[in-house]
Amino acid sequence: MKGLLISRNDLNSWIKSLAEKYKTFAPVRTESYDQFSMITSPEEINWAYRNTRLSPKALFHPHSEKMFQFSLDPRDPSKNILKEAPKDFSPRVIVGIRPCDAYALKLVDLNFDTSQYKDPWWTKRREITTLIGLACTSPGLTCFCKAVGTGPFDTRGVDILLVPLEDAFLLEIITEKGQILVEKYNPGGQEPPPEVLNNVEKLKSQAESAISSFGNLELLSENSVSDFFDAPLWNEVQFGCINCGTCTFLCPTCWCFDIQDEVYRDKGCRLRLWDSCMFPLFTLHGSGHNPRAQKVQRVRQRFMHKLKYFVDKYRQGVACVGCGRCVEFCPVNIDIRDIIRRMISLSECAV
Ligand code: SF4
Ligand code: SF4
Repeated sequence: MKGLLISRNDLNSWIKSLAEKYKTFAPVRTESYDQFSMITSPEEINWAYRNTRLSPKALFHPHSEKMFQFSLDPRDPSKNILKEAPKDFSPRVIVGIRPCDAYALKLVDLNFDTSQYKDPWWTKRREITTLIGLACTSPGLTCFCKAVGTGPFDTRGVDILLVPLEDAFLLEIITEKGQILVEKYNPGGQEPPPEVLNNVEKLKSQAESAISSFGNLELLSENSVSDFFDAPLWNEVQFGCINCGTCTFLCPTCWCFDIQDEVYRDKGCRLRLWDSCMFPLFTLHGSGHNPRAQKVQRVRQRFMHKLKYFVDKYRQGVACVGCGRCVEFCPVNIDIRDIIRRMISLSECAV
């Protein structure tokens, strides 16, 4: 790993200059949890945060977003107006994003940015945002990134990676976007001496070894959907689930949404709102038929989508980056790690 060794003071000055030019977001401590908020000064950043309660996906795919607005002229329909709602696409920087959350954005790209379909707002926001990641030197008890193919020092989703050291940071430039930020707003710093690089490697392997493996995840793709679909596992898992949707709303790789029109007299707007496969209304057809009317079908869908359908469709591993949010906040303690283990053991039986 190569990079720049920069002092905490230099890093702060650099972030201050970024915040003067770009909309800058970073983890900020609220009363009882951390969340990505817009900052104007580096003093607002909580560098010691473990992870935010809500993932930063809302900065790209907001909880609710006005897509279009319209007004009707009942006397003269030629004066009806339909236009895209104004949006702010000024350049932004996200400082301190965790490697798992940054990689999650790449997984969501597979859905919102394809050769056939491009979500205009997702792709634009991805384009205007530079991600400055923060490596995790002490993964939390519910973190399992390494076990699902990412890692506490994973650089695949970020433009720059910061590794926190005692009173300094190692800044590693990963992409051209990251290079531009460093060239334009010189953060100072120096070439790190070999002992610093050795220390960083040590921190990396310590962090990675704090996360235990589930076994062979590849087995999930080697078996067919039918090996899992009718397994008794789903009946057991669904029993406690209250379909609150917390897991899906917190998850950095869940992207489901609903579109609704709000109309008042002759004006209205079209909204895009987060939705959840855990809600019965999500799949209710206009005919009244619901292909996932039962809770067991919805619970199975959530896990099969992340751990089987996504795997088969995109061949990019599972749609879970191991951030641990759903494990930590499910009110009835449903634990995706347990489900992964059980699906792997079903696979082993089937092979
Ligand atoms: S958070 Fe737990 S209880 Fe709520 S929908 Fe998800 S699995 Fe079910
Ligand atoms: S499924 Fe759970 S652990 Fe995996 S990325 Fe989503 S919230 Fe994080």
